[in-house]
Amino acid sequence: MTFRSKAFEIAQGRVSPVLSPPSEKVADLYGSNTFSDQVMKTLLSAEAYTRISNAIRSGSIIDRDVAEEVAAAMKSWAISKGATHYTHWFQPLTGTTAEKHDSFFDLTLDGKAVEKFKGSALVQQEPDASSFPSGGLRATFEARGYTGWDPSSPAFLMDNGAGGKTLCIPSVFISYTGEALDYKAPLLRSLVMLDKAATAVSQYFNRDVDKVTPTLGIEQEYFLVDKALYYARPDLLMTGRTVFGHSPARGQQLDDHYFGSISPRVNAFMVDFEFEALKLGIPVRTRHNEVAPGQYECAPTFEEVNLAVDHNALLMDLMQKVGDRHNFQVLFHEKPFAGINGSGKHNNWSLNTNTGINLLQPTSKPKENLRFLTFLINVVKAVHDHADLLRASICSAGNEHRLGANEAPPSIISVFLGKDLTTMLEELVNKGEITLEKGENFYYKLGISRIPNLQRDNTDRNRTSPFCFTGNKFEYRAVGSSQNSASPMIILNTIVANQLMEFRRDMEERLSAGEEKKVAVVGILKRYFTESKDILFEGNGYSEEWVKMAESRGLSNISATYDALYAYTSDSTIQVFERMGILSARELNARYEIELENYVKKLQIESRVIGDLSLNHIVSTVVKYQFKLAQTARSLTDLEMLEEAAPIREIIRDISSHVVVIKKLVHDMTEARKAANAVEDLYERAKRYGSEVKGYFEQIRYHVDKLELLIDDEDWPLAKYREMLFLE
Ligand code: ADP
Ligand code: MG
Repeated sequence: MTFRSKAFEIAQGRVSPVLSPPSEKVADLYGSNTFSDQVMKTLLSAEAYTRISNAIRSGSIIDRDVAEEVAAAMKSWAISKGATHYTHWFQPLTGTTAEKHDSFFDLTLDGKAVEKFKGSALVQQEPDASSFPSGGLRATFEARGYTGWDPSSPAFLMDNGAGGKTLCIPSVFISYTGEALDYKAPLLRSLVMLDKAATAVSQYFNRDVDKVTPTLGIEQEYFLVDKALYYARPDLLMTGRTVFGHSPARGQQLDDHYFGSISPRVNAFMVDFEFEALKLGIPVRTRHNEVAPGQYECAPTFEEVNLAVDHNALLMDLMQKVGDRHNFQVLFHEKPFAGINGSGKHNNWSLNTNTGINLLQPTSKPKENLRFLTFLINVVKAVHDHADLLRASICSAGNEHRLGANEAPPSIISVFLGKDLTTMLEELVNKGEITLEKGENFYYKLGISRIPNLQRDNTDRNRTSPFCFTGNKFEYRAVGSSQNSASPMIILNTIVANQLMEFRRDMEERLSAGEEKKVAVVGILKRYFTESKDILFEGNGYSEEWVKMAESRGLSNISATYDALYAYTSDSTIQVFERMGILSARELNARYEIELENYVKKLQIESRVIGDLSLNHIVSTVVKYQFKLAQTARSLTDLEMLEEAAPIREIIRDISSHVVVIKKLVHDMTEARKAANAVEDLYERAKRYGSEVKGYFEQIRYHVDKLELLIDDEDWPLAKYREMLFLE
């Protein structure tokens, strides 16, 4: 019996667990494991509560006394709920979350046991930072890094599984010299700047707006594979994706999985992690099957961006933990299976004012629509001017497999607005200069007295666009499923903040020249629209024609990650990021290096796995099978059944031809890898890996997948696609 057939038997024998949902109502459950506003209100003095609420709202500094009081309240709350440890919970540039648990338990000088958690421990910790990536920001002699409490994201209790809970305190992670080593620090800075810029622009339309909160709703796609089969695939285990595997006879062509009924076993897993998520205050709402077999999606309701990003990182962690209980491995890789849709993380983004207005929501009131158009066109212009940077923010070895694979947005950034909206904007621009007579209706004259009803337009969705307007928000669909969403959000917030500030400067110039406000707004928007409309595209983003059209428009189409990442360090990026105070040139450069380094490491591991599997699993099995065939052929020949022996000889020859090529390719790939490893310059090394080493992957796969069809199914060592994908 092969490892594979044992695994399949185990997987097939699984019984779907019957879950008894916690008896409480969802509303009672929601946030019950978070140190929420409600909890603070009950446990803190009125003064401390007011001070911390203000600090959360305005980002002001929290003083020592308040920190002491909050720490004491957090400690007693956490211990009363079964916590034994606490940790700063942060998001280093490895792309996962990190924690280092400390016990509340301590000893006094005279040896008595006490439970201790001071304000200083809440505010700051010093994890051993030397093994987190820093892109050269930390010299080895100064490996210290600090984590600092982010009070705007509530602390929560994480179940450690085998009993005991840990109080997790969302934190930023910075180096000794104050440089950001994580995603959260620059994200928070970008949110402050965007608030400032968007508030200032909102005030041209509504004087009472004094805060704008960017919002984010993340749709998370993932695959589920049974644990036993997962362990029967060394490539999945080591790289998160299958490097070999022939497509099953039935893939996704029937489209019968999408929104299809959810199997009981999968449903039990979903219900289970959703309850856990709700307890942590993650507002999970929708669940459904995705396009590919074995693929699913989960989408919480949108929240303030910082919270949404934390919640997504936490959710991924949680899904994996709950998955273990259900014997499922959750695959977040962007392209775990060839020939089958990959997974993304759609980032739905908008701007909300403290007065309750969604700034990207069109209405039937003309005056409000001028405000809507202002924000809409400024976003389009920001994306147009910094498309390369936005592209860089979603680059990775994993997403490289997915993007441009004819089933996912291409590597060309474009914006989809929908037909009605585009037509309206074009008319607006074509209207020429407006002169107003006394008493004339400005909006009527402009033709924006009515905006086509965009809400009903749900069918006018373009699934092939990487960045599309969906009625009252933008959806960035090219984000990779395993990525930390902060990376694209830092970029989007920053370029939009920068653009809104430019708009404000343009406005002030016109206003001080005596122009009327509405006329000035329209004048500027027209110019912006004309300057950036090349980025707009309504057609099929997966088509060959679009690639050609984009080229003729001068849009960039950078498919290689190592080249796309360059935008992190371009002059225009550094200028904007330094001006906005989000990341310094040094920090940007560090991020660039970390991403390149990641890219090299991922491909290096994949290449090794491909080499090992080819020789130790595939060729070795195949040779044994060939021996069996050869024996049969010889027996037939001995019996003088030459005609019957002929086809068997042919199979032996076929198999041999593939084996010879595989051996040669693996050898050449290994040599290419060695040569690449010797290249000093990081960019050049990444390029070698991306163009030369990676070039062998598909070639080797081709021959291995052919062998999969030639070898007796009983003997094939790796779990097959049909076994992994259709088992529910
Ligand atoms: P669809 O699947 O059709 O794209 P959904 O209703 O599933 O749409 O919404 C996708 C995501 O967009 C959800 O997480 C939702 O909460 C989020 N979303 C809705 N409105 C906003 C908004 N104003 N800002 C940010 N995200 C939003
Ligand atoms: Mg969507």
